[in-house]
This record gives sequence, C-alpha cells and structure tokens, in this order.
Amino acid sequence: MIPESFDYQRASSVSDAISLLHQHGEGAKILAGGHSLVPTMKLRLSTPATLIDIGDLTELKYISDKGDYLAIGAGATHWMLESSDLIQQKAPALSQSAGQVGDVQVRNRGTIGGVLAHSDPQADYPGVILALNATIVVQGSGGERTIAAADYFTGLWETALEETEILTEVRIPTDNANANSCYLKFPQPASRYPYVGCAVAMSTAGGSCAEIRVGFSGVGETAFRDSGVENALQGQALSESSIAAASAKAAEGRSVLSDVFVSEEYRRAMAQVYAKRALSQLS
Ligand SMILES: Cc1cc2nc3c(=O)[nH]c(=O)nc-3n(C[C@H](O)[C@H](O)[C@H](O)COP(=O)(O)OP(=O)(O)OC[C@H]3O[C@@H](n4cnc5c(N)ncnc54)[C@H](O)[C@@H]3O)c2cc1C
Repeated sequence: MIPESFDYQRASSVSDAISLLHQHGEGAKILAGGHSLVPTMKLRLSTPATLIDIGDLTELKYISDKGDYLAIGAGATHWMLESSDLIQQKAPALSQSAGQVGDVQVRNRGTIGGVLAHSDPQADYPGVILALNATIVVQGSGGERTIAAADYFTGLWETALEETEILTEVRIPTDNANANSCYLKFPQPASRYPYVGCAVAMSTAGGSCAEIRVGFSGVGETAFRDSGVENALQGQALSESSIAAASAKAAEGRSVLSDVFVSEEYRRAMAQVYAKRALSQLS
C-alpha cells in the first residue's frame, strides 16, 4: 500500500495555502490531519500531484465564543472538540460526536475541516452540524464566503466547497436548542464510523417541544435534516407516545444506504431506534 509519488509543500498561512492551490492547479490537494486523505492515497483512489500541508497552521486551531455563535477553526482536532468546556456546554452534540470518532490516534490528528471537506456520507459530523444549524466559512482568492450547513452537502462525496477554496471556520449558533443537544450512534465495531448517527437539538417550553432540529449521518447518500421527525414533534407535549410517534417517521420517504454489514431495512429500523433514544434523552 504505497501511494504514488507526490510533491509536498508546507503552507505558512491560509493565504499562502490558497496561492499554492492556484499555483499547483488541479493536481493539488490540501493535507490536514491526513486520516482520510492518506488512506485513500495508499489505496491509489486519490493520486494528488502535490500536497499542501495546513496541519500545523495555528491560525486554524481555535474554539472561541463570539456571543451569538461559537467559532471553530477548521484545524480544530476531534480531541479539541471533545475536550472543550465551551462546546460541551453550548453544543454538547458536537463534543459527544467528536468523542466517538475512530480511536485516540484519529481523534488527535483528524480535524473538523478535514471531515467536512472530505464529506464521507458515513462520517459523524455532517448530521451534527445540520442539527446544530451551523454555517461554514470558506476562503478563496476572491475572499471569504459563508455557506449554510443545509446548502453545503450537495451529493454523494460532493459539497459546495470549490477546488481552490479552503474551509476555514465552522460557526455554531449559541441558542437554547443547541445547548440542549445530543448525538447517539450505532457504530461499525472496528472503524467506529456510524451505520446510523442521530443528532438532535431541541428547546422545550412548559413540557412541550418548542424548537427541534434532527440530523442523520451514515443513513443516506448525504447527511440530512429529518423534517418528518421534526414536524411530528414540533409544538407537541413531550411524552413517551409523542416521541414514539415522531421517531417512527425517521428516514421516511428517503433512500437509505445498504451494504454487506447493514441492510437498508435494518438501517432504517435503527434510524428509528436511535431517534427515539436521542429524543428521550433530551426530554
Ligand atoms: C481508523 C480510522 C477510523 C476513523 N473513524 C471515523 C469515525 O468513526 N467517524 C468519522 O467521522 N471519521 C472517522 N475517521 C475519519 C477521520 O475523522 C478523519 O480525521 C477525517 O475524516 C478527515 O480529517 P483530516 O483532518 O484527517 O483530513 P485529511 O485526511 O487531511 O483531508 C481529507 C480531505 O479534506 C480535504 N481538506 C482537509 N482540510 C481541508 C480544509 N480546511 N479545506 C479544504 N479542504 C480540506 C483534503 O484535501 C482531503 O481531500 C476515521 C479515520 C481512520 C483512519
């Protein structure tokens, strides 16, 4: 398992990385934690001519409270998200999902920017950032633009990120629903990738569901917000029966992945089970 030979450049800043991407053209790829890119290079599924390493850029490794939102640098590792007090308090679903990624080695190197740029349909974060209603910030030679999480995942392995852009920041609103959020997953026992990952952010008022956002990872070709579950519970009194009725809607009308490990039917059933567990946990 030896990759094809490639040129290596270490970027000194985000703007340096953007100019290197332009300079080296189509064959260039950003290298962050390397925990998705390097395995695909070893399998020769990816054969970049040049790697532009942003892994050491401290300007991308931060988590800060901006009042209305938490700003997370693309270079923040899974471990940084798992162990941050701020994220545990204001977006617990994100720290819980970070703590369940792969193993300790993967969590120490892999980054949130790498996961979202790679856009593996079976990664943990996509469903979480949909449920948390996040915004993704990207930078290219034309400047900065923001993309709502709902518009970011455009298809299987496809995102709204352009080839010559770098994902620089993820913004998580600091609202009541995000502070009362959780992430539960049914993992592949070896890699820990989710067969089903369910993130829920929900605010309550007087025992009823005031606001709810539900995101699924691993279930479909892309992560998705589940409006069936959301509409069934929004405004309803929270009880065992309302939660059971809402979770029975999980993945309804959606095309669901099937593989040698987990059939479509079983994955759909597990989506309902994990939705029910997540909703019950927050009620
Ligand atoms: C054994 C193992 C188990 C794993 N288990 C899980 C799991 O349970 N759940 C899970 O979600 N993931 C899992 N992963 C994947 C892991 O989370 C990776 O860290 C992650 O998918 C990629 O992050 P990275 O920083 O390593 O990115 P890299 O591998 O460096 O890059 C991935 C892709 O994103 C691009 N890229 C990276 N950063 C940026 C950026 N800022 N802007 C633009 N493009 C960028 C690269 O060019 C590349 O195409 C596992 C990986 C391994 C090896």
